Amino acid sequence: MHARIWGCRGSLASPGPETIRYGGNTSCMEVRLSDGTLMVLDAGTGIRPFGLSLDPDRDKTIHLFLSHLHLDHLEGLGFFSPLWRPDVELHVWGPPSPLRSLEQRIARYLSPPLFPVHLSDIPSHPQFHDVPDGEFTIGGATIRAQPISHRGPTVGYRITENGKTMAYLPDHEPALGVDLAEMEPEWISGHGVAEGADVLFHDAQYTPEEYADRVGWGHSSVEHVVTFGLVSKVKQLVMFHHDPLHSDEHLEALVSKAGELWGANGNGGDPVLAYEGMEIEL
Ligand SMILES: [Zn+2]
Ligand SMILES: [Zn+2]
Repeated sequence: MHARIWGCRGSLASPGPETIRYGGNTSCMEVRLSDGTLMVLDAGTGIRPFGLSLDPDRDKTIHLFLSHLHLDHLEGLGFFSPLWRPDVELHVWGPPSPLRSLEQRIARYLSPPLFPVHLSDIPSHPQFHDVPDGEFTIGGATIRAQPISHRGPTVGYRITENGKTMAYLPDHEPALGVDLAEMEPEWISGHGVAEGADVLFHDAQYTPEEYADRVGWGHSSVEHVVTFGLVSKVKQLVMFHHDPLHSDEHLEALVSKAGELWGANGNGGDPVLAYEGMEIEL
């Protein structure tokens, strides 16, 4: 499979000279399977340029997987050009909720007064699916979606094709109320998604000092993400969901701190920062 990042900023789009190297668009990642199946993870503002990159003659079936419905993961959907093409078959997958269907929850955003057009009038007529509990297949890939520690119904995604695995947990607070280094790994939130992954894209929003004032907000400090990556025995950790307050220089200081914490304990290379345009072949 081939993955490309179109947005890796957390919380709010943050364009400008201070964020030029790692990008200001919110969460969106393209995943193309080796059989050509096209998947996209989250619909942050990065999904707008992703949509423009597609070939209208080739890319007619698209599977969009939403980790959750916080606005930074959904706000680009109305500006995703395939949404407006009647010949596109768009499947939207997301975490179930006991209160409202996925379609009803998304229609709260894609309807007046927040958006000019109602979801039911959109030409592609997307099909909505609750992600199943356990594993399921899309094209040649096996997908595992599991609920993880964050505010509101949220899942992490594990995608395996041809023996290679990527894991995507952009918003995740596994350290909430527990000591990650002491806990049995199988009881840690997200472990079943990340375990042994070749690449893990994971929330790395805060410094330890920032986290101390934001316990329970749903995100991880650099120490938490490094410990989570080590305990999960991932080969490559990619730090994702950068805080809007963190400039390029700030992020580079953060990744060098992550490298020190990772030390000689990791299975593979040092942690790296996600950036817009980053491509990974698995
Ligand atoms: Zn987010
Ligand atoms: Zn969130």
